[in-house]
Amino acid sequence: MASRVLRIGLIPGDGIGREVIPAGRRILEALPSSLGLKFEFTDLQAGFETFEKTGAALPDKTVEILKNECNGALFGAVSSPSKVVKGYSSPIVALRKKLDLYANVRPVKTVLTAAKPIDMVIVRENTEDLYVKEERTLDDPAYGGKYAEAIKRISARASSRIATMAGEIALRRQSLRANGVSSIHKAPLVTITHKSNVLSQTDGLFRSTAREALAAPRFSGTVNVEEQIVDSMVYKLFRQPEAYDVIVAPNLYGDILSDGAAALVGSLGLVPSANVGEGFAIGEPCHGSAPDIMGQNIANPIATLRSTALMLEFLGAEEAAARIYAAVDGNLEEGRLLSPDLGGKATTEEVVQDILRRL
Ligand code: ATP
Ligand code: MG
Repeated sequence: MASRVLRIGLIPGDGIGREVIPAGRRILEALPSSLGLKFEFTDLQAGFETFEKTGAALPDKTVEILKNECNGALFGAVSSPSKVVKGYSSPIVALRKKLDLYANVRPVKTVLTAAKPIDMVIVRENTEDLYVKEERTLDDPAYGGKYAEAIKRISARASSRIATMAGEIALRRQSLRANGVSSIHKAPLVTITHKSNVLSQTDGLFRSTAREALAAPRFSGTVNVEEQIVDSMVYKLFRQPEAYDVIVAPNLYGDILSDGAAALVGSLGLVPSANVGEGFAIGEPCHGSAPDIMGQNIANPIATLRSTALMLEFLGAEEAAARIYAAVDGNLEEGRLLSPDLGGKATTEEVVQDILRRL
């Protein structure tokens, strides 16, 4: 059988990004050849140190190579300067725009033996809502003087495509379960989050469009669909997190919910994410550059390994993704070789080796 070649850009960035991104490469290289995949890697620059060296946090060359030569990428972390630095802006935010990565996908999962097991994915729309950043400051005696306002823009097109992606993720999670990935869920469920009781036009449009998209023939009868107003969603997310499988939300609620959900699992070192567009995905651990632990070989590589699997899911390599997820779950369930953020004593290298062995 001819192998499918996937070209992956590697952008370690700053801090522990440089310690964990190599683990992503190694797990891809360790996948059994029977899966029919071959990987080619390109090392790419971005981040604060790149900015200090070259004057650009995201060099044009990095964007061009990603666009023209890569199927996907792994992005480590960039350190955020403590003060505003002139000319510096976040390279990952710029990449999302330049590559039209319209979805941010964040799976949040604990071991199934936990007292309150969690296994959900938050799918956040990433191009509009209040994040169009159309703000202005005005002055009017009617408001007692100075006031400010911002546009919340919601389109049917963006709402429909994000809801469709959520439906597809719910279906794929079902087939990952069939491929041996452990889960607390039996049937696919998508929860649409909004505040349409107050914002009947903007969130109302998100809600009705998402409903419509999820009523498509390939979902109906298989994917269950429910709605939850965002404030009661937060309440239930903390009280009863096991109730959620896939959550789809407009940009702002998605941002808040995904950080809130990440807090439920104990360490940032476990939580992956992906930035996804048409036929392209960047896997990115949720954590930052963690300057407090950098250079000590103790960063937890699991967020990156899971981000690598998540990237593969969107590149159509589901079986390979399932292998990685199962190997990571195996390491966590056994609990013998854990990094210090999880209360263990293992180094980054020992955790990586244990997971590679399970692969
Ligand atoms: P940045 O400005 O780059 O976001 P930060 O100081 O906010 O850096 P984070 O990377 O966001 O740091 O991490 C927050 C905390 O979680 C830190 O104490 C860090 O050590 C810890 N942490 C983050 N990622 C990991 C990881 N992979 N393994 C272990 N601990 C981690
Ligand atoms: Mg941070």
